[in-house]
Amino acid sequence: MKKVYLDNASTTAVYPEVIQEMTKVLTEDYGNPSSTHSLGRKSKSILELSRKSIAQNMNATAQEIIFTSCGTEANNWVLRSAVKDLKVKRIITSKMEHHAVLYTALVLEKDFGIQIDYVHVKPSGEVDLTHLVELLSQETKTLVSLMHVNNETGTVLDLERVGVICQEHSALFHSDTVQSVGKTAIDLQKLSVDFIVASAHKFHGPKGVGFAFVRKNSGLQPLFFGGEQEKGLRAGTEALHQIAGMAKALSLSYNCLEAHQSHILDLKKYLISKLELEFPDHKINGGSDAFYTILNVLLPFSEAKTAMILFHLDMKGIAVSRGSACQSGSIKPSHVLLEILSEEDLKKPSLRISFSHFNTKEDIDILVEALKSI
Ligand code: PLP
Repeated sequence: MKKVYLDNASTTAVYPEVIQEMTKVLTEDYGNPSSTHSLGRKSKSILELSRKSIAQNMNATAQEIIFTSCGTEANNWVLRSAVKDLKVKRIITSKMEHHAVLYTALVLEKDFGIQIDYVHVKPSGEVDLTHLVELLSQETKTLVSLMHVNNETGTVLDLERVGVICQEHSALFHSDTVQSVGKTAIDLQKLSVDFIVASAHKFHGPKGVGFAFVRKNSGLQPLFFGGEQEKGLRAGTEALHQIAGMAKALSLSYNCLEAHQSHILDLKKYLISKLELEFPDHKINGGSDAFYTILNVLLPFSEAKTAMILFHLDMKGIAVSRGSACQSGSIKPSHVLLEILSEEDLKKPSLRISFSHFNTKEDIDILVEALKSI
């Protein structure tokens, strides 16, 4: 049975070239980058070349890229240190964020007594920027934390505009860019963003490694102690094979960006045209302007069929997601769809179909045929 993987917002298949690079580093370059002997120095050079390559791809300086174990860690770090060390007294965020931001903000509210304000979200899933400006009129030291691309609906935030708004109101700006890094150009010299975070496994790199962009002189302090790695900002021996794999994956993604974008966009349009034909009553959650890699679609199925849909697709070798993967196994509706769908629509199945350049039209045909047979 052909496996059809359409759950790329959850995680992605690793590029063969990345596996090759990681295997080489694991085999040959096992020195500790902090050691002063030649094996250590070789590892240190791989580490710093990886940092430089990632920085170049994002138009940042190498010293602004700090390696972490994942996107979740990077989000936790930025938010916690902003409150603890940068004396942020209020976080403005949205109810549509990933739990790595939402739950962290709630813990910080409890631990430090900070204020949390949620910016309104429009029915399309977009953040209401007029409300953001209203919230920012309060004179409190504030961090705005809003994600670039929503991992469930693909709704896109205008990073440039929000950056300007934050700058005008002297607020710090953090964006969870886990779904967009490697999939759209991000120019950190042009954007007024203080912190962004990324995760390699979302752009065909390995799991268990990510990075934070921390703008120069931000004053961010470490979360972990016990080593001078990453200029003291992230103690712990660097996972060199993961980092080298991540740098390779990001370069490959950006080198092929246009080709991948147009291939994926074609597939998405093809799927939408087939859905229009076969399920004319479907609705696209999060608006038609959603990011090209994600299609969150509400299907006109009965409640009885809703419960079985993922199981049925899985039996046919098709991997898609209902809401966020982090909630898989849970029957609770996704916290994102809860914000934008009516009670009636929440009872119907919404599928998150997320693409990569490895997908083909045949994958789409198999998915649509499987949906027709439910
Ligand atoms: N933020 C967003 C928007 C995500 O989609 C994810 C992963 O699902 C994360 C953060 C967490 O990243 P990681 O899996 O690297 O911890």
